Amino acid sequence: MAEKLTPREKGFSEWYVDLVQKAKLADYSDVKGCMVIRPNGYALWENIQRTMDKMFKDTGVKNAYFPLLIPESFLKKEAEHVEGFNPQLAVVTHAGGQKLEEPYVIRPTSETIINRSFSKWIQSYRDLPLLVNQWANVMRWEMRTRLFLRTTEFLWQEGHTCHETEADAEERTLQMLEVYRTFAEDYMAMPVLPGRKSESEKFAGALRTYSIEAMMQDKKALQAGTSHNLGQNFAKAFDTTFQGRDGKVHHVWQTSWGSSTRLIGGLILTHSDNAGLVVPPRIAATHVVIIPIAGKATDAEKTQVMEKTHALAADLRKAGLGVVVDDDETKGPGFKYNEHELIGTCLRIELGPKDLAKGSCVMVRRDLRQKEFVSLDEAVAKAQAMLDQMQKDLFQKAKAFRDAHTFEVNSYEEMKAKAEDGFLLAHWDGDPKTEARIKEETGLTTRCRPFSLKQEPGKCVMTGNPSQGRIVFSKAY
Ligand code: AMP
Repeated sequence: MAEKLTPREKGFSEWYVDLVQKAKLADYSDVKGCMVIRPNGYALWENIQRTMDKMFKDTGVKNAYFPLLIPESFLKKEAEHVEGFNPQLAVVTHAGGQKLEEPYVIRPTSETIINRSFSKWIQSYRDLPLLVNQWANVMRWEMRTRLFLRTTEFLWQEGHTCHETEADAEERTLQMLEVYRTFAEDYMAMPVLPGRKSESEKFAGALRTYSIEAMMQDKKALQAGTSHNLGQNFAKAFDTTFQGRDGKVHHVWQTSWGSSTRLIGGLILTHSDNAGLVVPPRIAATHVVIIPIAGKATDAEKTQVMEKTHALAADLRKAGLGVVVDDDETKGPGFKYNEHELIGTCLRIELGPKDLAKGSCVMVRRDLRQKEFVSLDEAVAKAQAMLDQMQKDLFQKAKAFRDAHTFEVNSYEEMKAKAEDGFLLAHWDGDPKTEARIKEETGLTTRCRPFSLKQEPGKCVMTGNPSQGRIVFSKAY
């Protein structure tokens, strides 16, 4: 038997860590807070990367690469930025056997070093907009880490753009947030709330930060991607200027936006169950496993089953699906079923001599785990249809869960009582001190002011002061 996972009901955290390790997605390493991403996990990252990369490029963004090490003085040029990131920096002080004259910071994010290049590349408004993305690793010395969700080193993409006007920068900030929303919902089947972050939750050095917030199965929020309008803060610090249409010199208006391997944690926590990983087909590397069942069959039957298995695998591959044939004779079918449920193969096809005699096979969707008899003639079309339906169902299920755990709360008492129950839509007076007190007393943080939530005035749940509208409070990863 494949190893059983700690059930979610027994301990959500234990279940998660168990799943990540037993499904061979990632492993702990000997470096504090850093993980090893195993092939099963990396395959998910590759699909996330491939899909997002195309979406970015479709909006005119091009990829580039900047150094891992950033001169310490660069970070100090933008006061808020260095203040925000200082506690999380890892610094290189020695190299080549000698103490460096100026320490290098391992990039926690690359606004500074990228602006150094931008300031050289941009002269005139004709050079704008400049739209660059980098796929890289970054390092932030996090205190409490959790596989995929928060690690000290993580893989991510960071987009950086420069514009002529403030309005252009704002438009791009929101455009990329919309790319993240589309990716999260249409590919990861993970419903998200796009909206604006509070002042205290915004990126260090930004004018405004927007995020997409998802709800995990334990009703906690996960910030799954962020898009920042940087205004001219970094442009002023690095003198990134251009000659405008008016002949005068101006600072550029900038954006940056990022998403990381945290998305894999989000994927796991949104869809998986006690049997293991559930992956939406549009992100999965392996869509179908065919398990030939020929234990008690005659040699002639075995040959027939194997021939049909390989023919079906070829047809499914031709249709663009990722297919594995599990014909390992040292393991029984039951073991294989468990194994593929654990690692999240979307669809299982069982094929034995009896099925073959009837011209059919058995298909089992990973999320439903129910057998369906399918005619072999229709197997490819049916597999595709089942995967399409699975993609839709996973989204609907996650959305129904989120909606069922989203509440309007109208008093602080109610808020405290529902602190563990999901997304709480509450009035808040906009004061960071009130936000900090609520966090301290309840563990709830503001997630974002969702665009979809109509802003109507009311009274702050804690202070009774006027509020411009409700914001989402939740426990969060
Ligand atoms: P930021 O540059 O701080 O806006 O981060 C961009 C995105 O990276 C966030 O929205 C998160 O999804 C992700 N992220 C931030 N910190 C971590 C971390 N320690 N581990 C994994 N992902 C992270």
